[in-house]
Amino acid sequence: MTKTPLDFKVDAQSGEARAGVLTTRRGQIETPVFMPVGTAGTVKGIRFEALESELDAKIMLGNTYHLWLRPGTDVIRAAGGLHRFIGWNRALLTDSGGFQVWSLGALRKITEEGTEFRSHVDGSLRFLSPEVSMEIQAALGSDIVMVFDECAPGQASHEETERSMNLTARWAKRSKEAFDRLQAEGADTGRVDAENLSGAQALFGIVQGAGHLDLRGKSLEQTVNIGFDGYAIGGLSVGEEKSVMFEVIEDIAPRMPKDAPRYLMGVGTPQDLVEAVARGVDMFDCVLPTRNGRTGQAFTSRGRLNIKNAQWTNDTRALDESCGCSVCQRHSRAYLRHLFMSGEMLASILLTHHNLAFFLDTMRGVRQAIRSGDFPKFRREFTERLDADGE
Ligand SMILES: [Zn+2]
Repeated sequence: MTKTPLDFKVDAQSGEARAGVLTTRRGQIETPVFMPVGTAGTVKGIRFEALESELDAKIMLGNTYHLWLRPGTDVIRAAGGLHRFIGWNRALLTDSGGFQVWSLGALRKITEEGTEFRSHVDGSLRFLSPEVSMEIQAALGSDIVMVFDECAPGQASHEETERSMNLTARWAKRSKEAFDRLQAEGADTGRVDAENLSGAQALFGIVQGAGHLDLRGKSLEQTVNIGFDGYAIGGLSVGEEKSVMFEVIEDIAPRMPKDAPRYLMGVGTPQDLVEAVARGVDMFDCVLPTRNGRTGQAFTSRGRLNIKNAQWTNDTRALDESCGCSVCQRHSRAYLRHLFMSGEMLASILLTHHNLAFFLDTMRGVRQAIRSGDFPKFRREFTERLDADGE
């Protein structure tokens, strides 16, 4: 039997919520899992030692667009791939660059062939296509590669979304062909011998279709027909109403292949994660814990807390009294507020650390609850605490 690049087993279920184990060529990942975002080869504001030892993050995300523009594919390939370049031996997932280029808005031009745009680094004219994206991701040597897709705006009309979705399907097919060719040529810098696995990169397809359920269903069919190692829901949290987002997830996730991981891209708050798990999603990534940490916002079991607020000036309590992270064990809100108001870089570092700890702990709790059969209770209590406004 031919070995696959990934192995995925669901070992417990509660309604649509699933707990399982995803085995990549760089180790096992328990799901549902949250993946910290390492945009430019760094999860901003935190060292890899903390990510590994205290937070126990098993997989991190890298951004193809950013790494391609700076330091560039040649530098990373010469260093022996992204794992070696940045010093991270655990699993890496890279996005395709499609979403970042799409976010440039007016600065880009989309054709059948690909997307032309101006680099935000040096203003040079660049071109990204399914083939180019697959070449970059092979040079990065990530363990999970994403197809190059096109994202319709959250409020896009049916006609516009359909055109975009069909383009995504054609690009998905071209991505797969280029990916297979590159694997055969040995272009993947991250190849390792892995027990019972092929050692090759895995490729995920992406379901698009904005808020139109019929188009989402069609996109799912097109994507599954091409055939991938995992399946993602893209194009959510891009300006649509939250109710629309959950409607799409609820409709699509349970219909995605049961024996493959389901990845919801770029979503969301801790509560969004719990709610998406309840609808059948296994993998997540989001910049919220790191980005908001840098702007003084903490996610806690009782909701969000803005460390800038004067009410914390003399507050000796931890950010989150039910959090076991090293920041909450050692420091008070008063101290963290002082650091932030003084413009000390440690403020961002400590808030980022706590936020990531809270996201990863939430997912640990979710996994345990699904395994022990207590997920409905966990979900209810998690939501009630958030709504309690215990600040
Ligand atoms: Zn904490």
